[in-house]
Amino acid sequence: MSSQIIATHLLDWFRPQMRDLPWRHIQNPYTVWLSEIMLQQTQIETVLPYYNQFITKYPTVDLLAQATLDEVLKLWEGLGYYGRARNLHKTAQIVSTTYGGIFPTTPEQLMTLPGIGRYTASAIASIAFGFPSAVLDGNVMRVLARLDDLAEDIAVKATQAQLWERAQALLPEDAAGDYNQAIMELGQKVCRPIAPRCTDCPLQAHCLAFARNTQAIRPVKTKKPATPHYHVAAAMVWDDAGRVLIAQRPLDGLLGGLWEFPGGKQEAGESLSECLQRELLEELAIEVDVLELFTVVKHAFTHFKITLHAFTCRFRPGVHPPQKLGVQDYAWVQVEELARYSFGKADRVVIEELHNRRGMLL
Ligand code: SF4
Repeated sequence: MSSQIIATHLLDWFRPQMRDLPWRHIQNPYTVWLSEIMLQQTQIETVLPYYNQFITKYPTVDLLAQATLDEVLKLWEGLGYYGRARNLHKTAQIVSTTYGGIFPTTPEQLMTLPGIGRYTASAIASIAFGFPSAVLDGNVMRVLARLDDLAEDIAVKATQAQLWERAQALLPEDAAGDYNQAIMELGQKVCRPIAPRCTDCPLQAHCLAFARNTQAIRPVKTKKPATPHYHVAAAMVWDDAGRVLIAQRPLDGLLGGLWEFPGGKQEAGESLSECLQRELLEELAIEVDVLELFTVVKHAFTHFKITLHAFTCRFRPGVHPPQKLGVQDYAWVQVEELARYSFGKADRVVIEELHNRRGMLL
């Protein structure tokens, strides 16, 4: 079956029901880039309010480049995967200074910018500039593996290379942007991982998995190992003035640049209290009295899960002030000032609990 017929059927299905999304109104590279970064591993409904806030506050890439990292992180707070926000800020600054505020047009050039991999580069180049480069994400892989009834493991690099080629071969050069969005949407809405809606699928007549009734076992994908789980202790260290100590994480790495109640991962053989004493010495060179468990929060990251145990602690009077040994910065703040800082999800749950129980603590 020719690639052209598949593309035509897909576009005929997609175009009449194309969803009215704000980044589709003003089609420029800045809005396409912003939406694509936000949509990485995040649902459209979650992204919408964040996208609108960013576009209102920073309507151009130059204005985003002029913002501070703290301002960008604060606006991003709650959207998760904070490396995206840091890269967003870096890329805005590069586009503004190196490229004079104008985004480069080819996937190769776009991939030199922080936070833009092969998939995102192709999405931006095709949607914003009509560049004929195919996209391949988990949704597209699933559609292609079923169309061809592919028996190879899609977690293997060689299979992925084969799928990139197949995706490119199917792409109509004169409608690359719409086609890429169409095949992704087909994967999300119709060719779903479980119970694909084959009776509503515009590609049913071309689908080998449908013809052979193998949809349920396609794509073939090796199972990931079990997600690791860690216990983390966090200290809410209070001083005599009723202020609590918060620390800013180093800029590189997980949750880089975000603020937190200081602490860290429990090591083998130590209690949570010992863990806190060790972490506070290593990161801030302080000693505290660990008083009581305040709350426990469970949280899942992409590759691991944590149980965060937040403890009420007292700063020992007469001890020297904290030092920035393993943190970017630190601050003593009143509870009502916490809202000015950007925190990760687990710490925000602790803060919410703090507000709920505030009368008991102060
Ligand atoms: Fe997916 Fe079914 Fe369509 Fe094949 S017919 S592409 S399995 S939804």
